Amino acid sequence: MRSTTSELDHEQRAVVAAPRAPILIVAGAGTGKTRTLTHRVSHLVESGISPDRILLLTFTQRAAREMTERVIAHLGDPGHAVWAGTFHAIGARLLRSYAHFFGYESDFSIVGPRDAQRLFSSATQDVPVPEHIKLEDVLSCYSLSLNADRDLSEVVDSSRRLKVSDLAWIDHLIDLYISAKMTQQVMDYDDLLTYWYLLLGQDGPREELISSFDAVLVDEYQDVCPLQARIVDAMARDHGNLTVVGDDCQAIYGFRGADIGAILGFGERYPDASLMHLQTNYRSSPEIVALANRSISHNRAQYSKTLMSARGSGPKPTLVDASDAEQVAQFVAHRVLALRAEGVPLMEQAVLYRTHSQARVIQLELQRQGVPFTVRSGVRVFDRPHVRTLLALCRAQVNPWDHNAWRDVVETFDGLGPVAADHILGILLNEPDPWLALVERDIREDLPARFRGDWASARTLLTEVRQAAVHGVSRQMAIYCDRVLAPRLRRDFTEDAEERIADLESLCRAASGFETTSQFMDALTLSEGLKEKDEPDDSVVLSTVHRAKGLEWASVFLVGLYEGGFPLWSYDDRGENLDEERRLFYVAVTRATRWLYLCHPWSDQANGQSKSLSTSRFIDELGSGMLDHWRLDQSEKSGDLK
Ligand code: ATP
Ligand code: MG
Repeated sequence: MRSTTSELDHEQRAVVAAPRAPILIVAGAGTGKTRTLTHRVSHLVESGISPDRILLLTFTQRAAREMTERVIAHLGDPGHAVWAGTFHAIGARLLRSYAHFFGYESDFSIVGPRDAQRLFSSATQDVPVPEHIKLEDVLSCYSLSLNADRDLSEVVDSSRRLKVSDLAWIDHLIDLYISAKMTQQVMDYDDLLTYWYLLLGQDGPREELISSFDAVLVDEYQDVCPLQARIVDAMARDHGNLTVVGDDCQAIYGFRGADIGAILGFGERYPDASLMHLQTNYRSSPEIVALANRSISHNRAQYSKTLMSARGSGPKPTLVDASDAEQVAQFVAHRVLALRAEGVPLMEQAVLYRTHSQARVIQLELQRQGVPFTVRSGVRVFDRPHVRTLLALCRAQVNPWDHNAWRDVVETFDGLGPVAADHILGILLNEPDPWLALVERDIREDLPARFRGDWASARTLLTEVRQAAVHGVSRQMAIYCDRVLAPRLRRDFTEDAEERIADLESLCRAASGFETTSQFMDALTLSEGLKEKDEPDDSVVLSTVHRAKGLEWASVFLVGLYEGGFPLWSYDDRGENLDEERRLFYVAVTRATRWLYLCHPWSDQANGQSKSLSTSRFIDELGSGMLDHWRLDQSEKSGDLK
């Protein structure tokens, strides 16, 4: 076993070895919070806690995996047993054993936001709601009320588009949604947290859950929502062995109900808590740290921190003025290649933006210049329509009551549209076991004559898929893909059919690593991980700032720095959202270790009209001395420097 505390400074070591009592570490970006937390996990194991009794809550599955790998490097195989994951993933894992308390079977399926929205629409389709009530607004207010632990009426009242007078409608719609989820044995993301919390209020499960863990650790604590904070408090109540790390300056999920109050009120909730600090930034050059400090000083409420860089001096961050987004893209591509020529691998470089819409122009240019890249924002592979159809087959198998999944599957067969699906599912889903009914019962006589022939061929194929279950989910997917989806894609999408089919094939390959369909589906629904297997080895990362939290690159290009782009025009007059935008800017710049390029296009050529764009206030307010300033040649649009 390797010593776990080498490579730590004395502040970090103090955290790692602190007694088993509540600890809050508030520290700036890049000070080693995540690293220290990982070391503390190893230390706890070394001091006698069994790894499977440690709960480590992180913000992404990727972070959970990376931290687990570090723990394994310290401790060897036992490190695998640590319960590391996002709140949602851990909630799902626990609820598999406790779902029956809420009327669910243990094999309930989990739907992401898109499928939740779809289920909400289908569950409420017969309700004659007034025009101005949009279903997506209802669902998002409901979700916010759960996560932020606020009254629905209050959330509705403060929303822009719904009114308190709509509440009767809203309640009715939500009731229908809740019962549709139950009937179809589906949980959405919010359920994974809500039911987890409810379990902690039930005699029996509460004691079991709480006594399963001897230590609870949370990374990125500044972004927990009140519901998550309550879960953490309840899980750690008995032993009080709770370590949370966060940076209030990086709180960027207020819009989703996260509340900095969890950090600010920590001392009140845990009067004997130690508040510890880390002050040395090990990630970025002093020039970048100074810029980040200057920017965040414009925010009002925050813990005061002094952040010092431990690294040697580097190049000054650079403001790049370009005529438009295309020229920014050309600059980025040139510069990425120039840095690579100087020895900075592509995977050490990232292009960050406020909104995914800004990625397109960068992608086109990188493609044109033959620079490999990986996009970590926008629609995930699993959300592309053709991929979702393949996954619908898995969902219908894990949970035969998932109406929308069946519908997607049935409608991929020739001659079977929505009306046919209504007839077929009306029969099958009223059987005690829909799959058994499909295989054993000939329902043709009960169908309108025009659907009988097509259903007969669909049924033959689906029976074959079902019987291939003994060979694993991957084989089942491959049959459906080769015989139904691929021919259909080739017919419907002449241009990029092969690309779409390649997506499906890579998903079939990914599935082969899982023992059961439901494990595969949980991993897919709750992680952003599987996609990476198909990422090129050395590629530039393109990401929204939100998705870049916790990560670092040698070189960061932050694009779209104009008023309305970043900060995005969505902040309110009270300035709270503007503060959140500034924290987002702080997160973005602190991702860079050495090179930082802040790119400002001064015009937008949308719709054939040129609109001028003023420089982001986040640049203006840095004052003088922080930045080198490069203006790109306007005439040649080549991205060369002047
Ligand atoms: P963020 O606020 O972005 O989440 P963080 O505080 O979690 O950052 P880490 O990601 O843990 O910081 O660490 C930042 C970088 O500094 C990493 O590359 C890490 O390996 C390095 N680092 C942390 N502590 C030390 C140390 N004591 N000596 C050398 N390098 C360190
Ligand atoms: Mg971190």
